[in-house]
Amino acid sequence: MSVTPASLETALRARFGDEVVLRGVPPLYLADATEARGLRGSAEAVVLPHSAEEVAEVVAWCYEHGAPLTPRGGGTGFAGGAVPLGGVVLALERLTAVRSLDPELWRMEAEAGVTTLDVRRRARESGLLFPPDPGAAEQSQIGGNVATNAGGPHAFKYGVTGDWVTGVEAVVAPGELVRVGGAIRKDVAGYDLASLLVGSEGTLGVITSVWLRLMPAPEAVAPVVSLHEGTAGGCEALARVLGSGLPVAALEYLDAETVRRAADAFPIALERGGFMVLVDVDGSVEEVARLRADVLEAVGEDALLVWAPESAAEIAALWRWRDGVSIAVQVERGGKASEDIVVPFDRLGEAIEETLAIGARHDLPACSWGHAGDGNLHSTFLVDPTNTAELARAEAAAEELFALAVRLGGSVSGEHGLGLVKGGQLGRQWEPAAVALHDAVKTAFDPAGLLNPGKKR
Ligand SMILES: Cc1cc2nc3c(=O)[nH]c(=O)nc-3n(C[C@H](O)[C@H](O)[C@H](O)COP(=O)(O)OP(=O)(O)OC[C@H]3O[C@@H](n4cnc5c(N)ncnc54)[C@H](O)[C@@H]3O)c2cc1C
Repeated sequence: MSVTPASLETALRARFGDEVVLRGVPPLYLADATEARGLRGSAEAVVLPHSAEEVAEVVAWCYEHGAPLTPRGGGTGFAGGAVPLGGVVLALERLTAVRSLDPELWRMEAEAGVTTLDVRRRARESGLLFPPDPGAAEQSQIGGNVATNAGGPHAFKYGVTGDWVTGVEAVVAPGELVRVGGAIRKDVAGYDLASLLVGSEGTLGVITSVWLRLMPAPEAVAPVVSLHEGTAGGCEALARVLGSGLPVAALEYLDAETVRRAADAFPIALERGGFMVLVDVDGSVEEVARLRADVLEAVGEDALLVWAPESAAEIAALWRWRDGVSIAVQVERGGKASEDIVVPFDRLGEAIEETLAIGARHDLPACSWGHAGDGNLHSTFLVDPTNTAELARAEAAAEELFALAVRLGGSVSGEHGLGLVKGGQLGRQWEPAAVALHDAVKTAFDPAGLLNPGKKR
């Protein structure tokens, strides 16, 4: 039996009650971080289940009634994955239990709605580290991190979220709760369904809980910041760090245009700008002292400025600033289209310069920063989100950027996923047979096409 969109909320409320189905659709549930580029969806109902079992009942109801549903985590995604295109928004914010934390066994099971910050905090309180560190940790949820396979600065040494997931509990069509993997560190029994769910952007199932691997927290950390003349100078410094073979934890860059826009909030005065290299090292106290000295030597060769904060307060201020760069850049025009292309490390300088050239061709201010060690750029075009002509130019600029990524041997997405904003881009970088397999996986998991329709394709 299908339900008309207009009667979805009433029908859902009749089945699940006022406690689970919101009255009306608050605007908050129609957008994510792509609102800064003018993206806003529509939905007929918002459902907030209390448990994995209730999620399964909602999915079963939607499947039975032909209602599309969009899973929603913290709404910090940059690809529009949580922006609904009609139907039901299924928000995981009430699934906030840490089901288990076993410090001596270096593992945790957390429900999908636990924030990234809480996962990291709970681990840290036990002397452990959950290394993935995407930049909106207070708001993003572990379910959203797993669904996007989120990265972050320290992915250079420690890998992305999926590298720390040993099991996934999810609701799959037509409303079944399944568990793949678990509190185990190895599992080759079947096809790797857990890995398929990781990064699936809500299109294959609704993640309700995840088993996470943790590691002992490093004894010490030491970031080193340097400024360099121009992109070429900065990329040479990055290449010296990488080429030296030092096992650094993060290898970040911010181009001069980004530094100029974010400089005011930097923890120390930046009298002159430049291309910024940010290296982080971690380990035992002795290791960190040695690595820090080696990094200082590698970046110091031609640096305009070197700053290596030592106090915990200064180090925290530096990372707070780094987390705020995205917002600082956005302030200038009120909005931005920020992409996440990946290129081979040796093409990074070219991609940084080409980002600026693409912006200039489309008459948009541009800049980029990102995870240099992973060849991952946040190429950004600044826009007034109320100006439709500018938004259209930003979309055209993004198209050129995606073409650039593929031409340089890279990928259209290293962190945010395809979501809505990169619809149709997969065919740029994969042969048709690979795209057909991708589509077949979707059909196998979601034969009626009701799970986050219109995304990741
Ligand atoms: C300031 C800022 C900095 C950021 N820095 C980084 C960074 O360094 N690295 C990085 O990778 N990303 C970064 N991001 C992007 C974003 O934080 C990540 O993509 C994050 O993982 C999204 O999590 P979320 O809970 O907000 O998910 P949402 O935005 O709510 O959803 C993202 C996608 O996952 C799906 N989804 C969410 N929860 C579930 C679930 N339980 N089951 C199934 N599907 C689900 C949604 O349908 C959607 O397709 C940043 C964003 C901001 C605003």
